[in-house]
Amino acid sequence: MPFVINAVLLQKIRRFALFCKQARGVRLFMKYLFHNLRILFLFLLLVMAIPQAMAQKSGKKPFTVVIDPGHGGVDPGALGRKSKEKDINMNVSKLLAEMIKEKYPEIKIIFTRTTDVKIPLVKRASIANDANADLFISIHSNASKSRKANGCETFTLGAGSSAEAKAAAMYENEVILSEDNFEEVYKGFDPRSSESYIIFELIRSHDMELSAELAQLVQEGMVGNSKLHNRGVASAGFLVLHRTVMPSILVELGFITNSNDEAVIASKNGQKKLAKGIFEGFEKYYERYGKPRGGNVKDRDNKSVKPKTPQKKKTVTATKGKKPVFKVQILTSNRKLAKNDKKLKGVKAEYYTENGVYKYTYGNSKDYNEIQRIKKQLTAKFKEAFIVAFIDGKKADINEAIRIYKESKK
Ligand SMILES: [Zn+2]
Repeated sequence: MPFVINAVLLQKIRRFALFCKQARGVRLFMKYLFHNLRILFLFLLLVMAIPQAMAQKSGKKPFTVVIDPGHGGVDPGALGRKSKEKDINMNVSKLLAEMIKEKYPEIKIIFTRTTDVKIPLVKRASIANDANADLFISIHSNASKSRKANGCETFTLGAGSSAEAKAAAMYENEVILSEDNFEEVYKGFDPRSSESYIIFELIRSHDMELSAELAQLVQEGMVGNSKLHNRGVASAGFLVLHRTVMPSILVELGFITNSNDEAVIASKNGQKKLAKGIFEGFEKYYERYGKPRGGNVKDRDNKSVKPKTPQKKKTVTATKGKKPVFKVQILTSNRKLAKNDKKLKGVKAEYYTENGVYKYTYGNSKDYNEIQRIKKQLTAKFKEAFIVAFIDGKKADINEAIRIYKESKK
């Protein structure tokens, strides 16, 4: 019996040892797997966190863009033969947001409306202000009594650069008439009375220059992609822009009342092209002003902030020691203008081309203060005029050029 017990016991001990060995193997394998999974998990976490972390670097909020699809709900906006403005505005807004998200996941995008609802103008602006947004882009489609009126146009806030620009602002502002309590909310502003528009004469801020620059870039993008008629950039008293406290533009995609324009702006393909155009303009603006600072609106006034993108670094080394030349850009055109063209308003402008667009400038000085004086004189004729810089005959980053200029003054 004792022998039998011993034999059974021995077998049990052997089995137990084998089990332990196997178990240890399994345990080791599990440990190995877990360790690697942990690394994989940490890696995934890191990859996902990078864009946010980049945006929140040094505790700053991410660059925030508010996209405002005009009209909505009971307010359809302008009506075409087969389409409504509110739907076109929404489609293009959503496409634009997708494009921004895809290229710049670190950017925060806020919509003033994502569904078919009516939002008061004042609310649209306060959504942007409350979010401390860096940019406000309002998207609309134009309308006219004349079926011939056509083309896309980008607006900034201002006194109104032409009768047509003023008409567009009046038209868009009229939506407040159907808002509750509008007289109180807008302090007696009557969107139909031209006298109400005097308030826009006094506006001047650094944001306006940035808005004008963004408007130019967006306009070029839209015209380049959609091939719609270029109505250019203009300024007018749009209430929604007046109420925002950051650089802001209002895009009129095209005329819903013109059959050719409507065919483009109401089609999926046309909407994609227009959204791409707006995106391309936004992209250039963001690379210039948004990326290095990561968010604070006020920071933009600080010209000493150095761009951090490698591309810009390259320009610096390539242009080392060379002094920038400043000029005032007054207008752009997708065709070459004759010297006596009405658009030039008698100014003997020169031009340079960028992406096939003719950009007209006036003045030529290495002295930034002098060019500012020239710009001041020009704003009477060209409200959206802004300063551009060239180094060695090539367009240069304006902030970098100002930095070089200031450096040379020391
Ligand atoms: Zn509209």
